[in-house]
Amino acid sequence: MSKKNLLKLVRKIDGSVNNIKQDSDEKDISIKYIWEVADTHFRADGKKQGVESGYFVGIDYEDRHSVTVSTQQGCSWTKVSKQCTFCETGQQDYLGQLSGEQIVQQGLVMALDNGTPEKTGQLEVAFMGMGEPAANYNEVARSIEGFEVILPNFKMNSIRYIFSTSGVPQKIIQLGKDLYEGRFGNAKIRLHVSLHAHTDEQRNEIVPINKNFPIADLMSSIREYSRYVDMVENADKLVSINYMLFNNYKSRPGVSFTNITPQSIEELANLLNDPLHFRPVLCEFNECSTPNDSVSFSQAEELKRILEKKGYKTKIFGSFGHSANLACGQLVGTIDENCRDQKIVDYNILKNVEESVLEEMCQIK
Ligand code: SF4
Repeated sequence: MSKKNLLKLVRKIDGSVNNIKQDSDEKDISIKYIWEVADTHFRADGKKQGVESGYFVGIDYEDRHSVTVSTQQGCSWTKVSKQCTFCETGQQDYLGQLSGEQIVQQGLVMALDNGTPEKTGQLEVAFMGMGEPAANYNEVARSIEGFEVILPNFKMNSIRYIFSTSGVPQKIIQLGKDLYEGRFGNAKIRLHVSLHAHTDEQRNEIVPINKNFPIADLMSSIREYSRYVDMVENADKLVSINYMLFNNYKSRPGVSFTNITPQSIEELANLLNDPLHFRPVLCEFNECSTPNDSVSFSQAEELKRILEKKGYKTKIFGSFGHSANLACGQLVGTIDENCRDQKIVDYNILKNVEESVLEEMCQIK
């Protein structure tokens, strides 16, 4: 990270606009941020397109605060018409990559805006916002290096980075290699792969980039990743395999998709075939413009039990942030000037950083 860019990050923060909306869920806190990061882009509806990020504190995770950051403006799979069918981000225009500095900026400002250092100082950073992190790998990797240097200067530590991908084999291997070679120091990184189906035929239907990177290649890249990570002391060796629960989901006109039969789950377990490294996570479907029948808790529990019998540690995951439209697949980045809960973040939050601290922070390459 060049000094010039870092100074821009710390001193100016781009003058971005934020809309903020707090989740009405009483237990958890979810706050949506929308950033205007590039030349203003107007959509057909006349609204501006921005980049969304989220700040979360879950009732079960009071010891830590999480930020979900975006890595692209939109998603680059849109450019090749292979965006995931269930994801609203993929329905937006793709406007380009975000730089490492812009990624750090999102996380840092959200953490400071919510007083994280005064609370626990423990921050989880999830590359789970808008965009495919593996398609912007270099900048995401630079942002991890940047966070690792910058956070301690604000009395924070990263407890974990979540690298969440729809599955780009080369970049998964690259991440393993980088971890093995010590690029990220002591940072803990957990790989999440959005699998959602156990056959190519099924996965092509909902994650069309699978046509470029079929399941066999993807699985072999994850196993290679694991071989690298196994050689790193204290590395996070588990890989989360995210499996969204689709029930009669209308992936396109005339086609419906279901992956919640006991047989699908048995076959998923057989495909993974490694309870030591893989943690299947059954993810609640987040409401979007494409209909999906609901899946009851008892149905999900039954599927979970099948995986547990096969020796997998697993869980049912209900994302945070539904009522703020901030959950996975719901991010659209609409800048609505009339947003009821809008406030402008005080960017001066970083103005008083000491010169000496700045110098130290500028050691980032
Ligand atoms: S889920 Fe991720 S990879 Fe798929 S379209 Fe959305 S942003 Fe892109």
